[in-house]
Amino acid sequence: MKTRRNFIKSSAFGAMGVITTSACSSEKNNPPRATENLVRKPTVISTWNHGMQSNEASWKIIESNGTALDAVESGVRVVESDPTGHSVGIGGAPDRDGKVTLDACIMNHQNKCGAVAFLENIENPVTVARKVMEETPHVMLVGEGAYRFAREQGIPHQNLLTAESEKMWKEWLKTSQYEPEINVENHDTIGALALDRFGNLAGACTTSGMAYKMRGRVGDSPIIGAGLFVDNEVGAACATGLGEAIVRVAGSAVAVELMRAGKSPQDACEEVINRIMEKHDDLENIQVGLLALDKFGNVGAHSIYENFNYALTRQDRHELVDSPFKISY
Ligand code: ASP
Repeated sequence: MKTRRNFIKSSAFGAMGVITTSACSSEKNNPPRATENLVRKPTVISTWNHGMQSNEASWKIIESNGTALDAVESGVRVVESDPTGHSVGIGGAPDRDGKVTLDACIMNHQNKCGAVAFLENIENPVTVARKVMEETPHVMLVGEGAYRFAREQGIPHQNLLTAESEKMWKEWLKTSQYEPEINVENHDTIGALALDRFGNLAGACTTSGMAYKMRGRVGDSPIIGAGLFVDNEVGAACATGLGEAIVRVAGSAVAVELMRAGKSPQDACEEVINRIMEKHDDLENIQVGLLALDKFGNVGAHSIYENFNYALTRQDRHELVDSPFKISY
């Protein structure tokens, strides 16, 4: 269960100016709508409670005039490197064979993107995803090839299965009959979206995937358009929850397209959630949460079930926010 908290730590988030639309170049191709808040507000949002620690690292970069891309990478790396979290990076729940396999992607304001999937023994898959984007002609590397590439880039080998995760997996094996279990509580990807003070958007998404998944299973998180999508002319979106459900509707890409068509980030997220609900006859254990951020820094969130939350950070705010949802438990 998530701890549902709302708090503000404004003192830690010092003075930083907002940027008016006149400072940004993309408007001529994509004029602002009458109802929009036309001031660009540097903003970081990210999924779940661990978004607070992620946003804290991201904001340090934003407020020192860094890029949204650096901000999201640095933020989610903190969560990847935290061994106490069981859904991302080191300490992540393994697959049903007891192996921790990680998925991640990253996307910048120029629609450049990189991803890794089914990656083992590397603590920060988001950094490998960024290197795929920047150092190769490709978008995604998987498995052994992704691992070899990471090592060639000087990234160290790291055992990701902690004693605690191993113990939990062995407990699970006793009753599982080796069946991967889908459960509303056994996943918690970190997806992060940022708008920097240059008016540029970026996003990152990283996960150990569904706990005790089948070996080789990859969800939405490293799939550009499903777990993450960024279009600097419009906005960005990311997803968490049952990856199979998110992939089926290309959740993040659709959220961005709905914003392009004039929906607010909030309405775009709700529409994607509606679409997922329409496509599934049985919603038991299908939790999905969507986050969206438009090019002005307006944010939206929605989920199927209650208990989805996200961290929101701006110059005067650093708080955990409960998402609107469709179904309460
Ligand atoms: N979306 C992830 C996946 O399906 C799980 C999560 O959100 O934690 O792999």
